[in-house]
Amino acid sequence: MTGPSAKRAKWVDFHCHLDLYQDHAQLIAECDRERVATLAVTTTPKAWSRNREMAAGTNHVRVALGLHPQLVGEREEELGLFEKLLPEARYVGEVGLDAGPRFYMSFEAQERVFERILRMCAEQGNKILTIHSVRAVAKVLQHLERELPADRGHVVLHWFTGSAAEARRAVDRGCYFSINSEMLKSTKHRGLVEQLPVDRLLTETDGPFVLVSGAAVRPAAVSGTVAQLAELRQVNPEDLRTQILTNLATVVSL
Ligand code: MN
Repeated sequence: MTGPSAKRAKWVDFHCHLDLYQDHAQLIAECDRERVATLAVTTTPKAWSRNREMAAGTNHVRVALGLHPQLVGEREEELGLFEKLLPEARYVGEVGLDAGPRFYMSFEAQERVFERILRMCAEQGNKILTIHSVRAVAKVLQHLERELPADRGHVVLHWFTGSAAEARRAVDRGCYFSINSEMLKSTKHRGLVEQLPVDRLLTETDGPFVLVSGAAVRPAAVSGTVAQLAELRQVNPEDLRTQILTNLATVVSL
């Protein structure tokens, strides 16, 4: 997403689990063909090497090193591998906290892992994170404020569903927000997305976890999300598309 290829990107999918699709290689080719700057997030550091190999030679796909909060209960010991690989990674995700009923049992472990990851990112600097915050926005922000100063790492809150006050707090921390089509189906979340500063907006799919007409969403579908967002915010879709590319350039230019 940096260098000459960034100039040629047309769309942004800042959070997609490319490696969870059957046709991983075809999807990467599709991102290049459709010029979708795509962040391929991973859920375990064991997936890093294969994702990197698959994305070698791509123009528009970048890979993020992750340890998903929903897997921390079973995989906390993989933090060692994460730590070993982190110097190779510019992008980090999916990481974060999940206080939903299915994962609340591991919440203490999640906080331990998240805190450790943020501290490592702060030490190394120049990282860009995509962060999960289901039912845990206040905690995520608290950790960010304590452990990752804004000049040590850029943060994109993925599928943000916090309150307006939490959104303001995140904006104050310098956070960006990646918006997906599912968020725009909820009246409450549409109201929130409408209020976010335009210079902090990115788009994402969170594929394959989001379905469109019964099939896993694909990165190129972000064009539809930009159209919906433009309608919601009553702005010109082409202006919004270029604004999102400008925002991406800012996020990656730390
Ligand atoms: Mn995800």
